[in-house]
Amino acid sequence: MTTAFISDLHLTPERPASSLLFDSFIADAPRYISSLYILGDLFEYWVGDDGADALGHGPVEAALKRTTDAGVSVYFVRGNRDFLVGEEFAARTGCRILPDPVLIEPDGLRILLSHGDALCTDDLEHQAARRQMLAEDWQQGFLSRPLAERMRAADAVRSQSERGKQMKPMEIMDVNQEAVEAVMREHDVRIMIHGHTHRPAAHEFEIDGERARRFVLGDWYEQKSAIYYENGRLTLRR
Ligand code: MN
Repeated sequence: MTTAFISDLHLTPERPASSLLFDSFIADAPRYISSLYILGDLFEYWVGDDGADALGHGPVEAALKRTTDAGVSVYFVRGNRDFLVGEEFAARTGCRILPDPVLIEPDGLRILLSHGDALCTDDLEHQAARRQMLAEDWQQGFLSRPLAERMRAADAVRSQSERGKQMKPMEIMDVNQEAVEAVMREHDVRIMIHGHTHRPAAHEFEIDGERARRFVLGDWYEQKSAIYYENGRLTLRR
């Protein structure tokens, strides 16, 4: 059986092609996947667990529930788009929410998982927004507002961030190599898997004279991007 990693599907009823790719992937999953790690931005945005149906995400939750019922362990690391995914979502779908970053050890192989936006330390604006989004009191305040108001606020942030992205130089929106090496040293790993940047690749470098690898997942706008782990080998399929 295989362990699979995916991220950045950015599911929304506004982009049906990605939803179709997800539907076929998740329907096949129980046949060959024992553990599935979703490394953030599964959803284009999330305004609280009570807003899933209003955003059209009911069918995604139902598909995840069928998958966990079929015996697949599904783990969820929040992304910067779906950082408000919470325990009610977890209860409805059977997914287990993990912190970011998180260390896993299949067959004793140490792999660090992250959504990846925390590594983009050159994007100071995003890091400031991230600190706010992750603050407990800010989240409580936001979630206590009426659903319709939260949906309007999310829409506004979304179009603002699309505009901002067009103005930022590309390298600012990629990970910072020093930040990568720092978090890998901190967790004593030589393999890391993340998403967020939508730049699927397998990077090789050295940390303290040892071979290190960083696997980056791609988005699901036009293809199913996934990394598979089987028998000690990691394979990226774009
Ligand atoms: Mn992201």
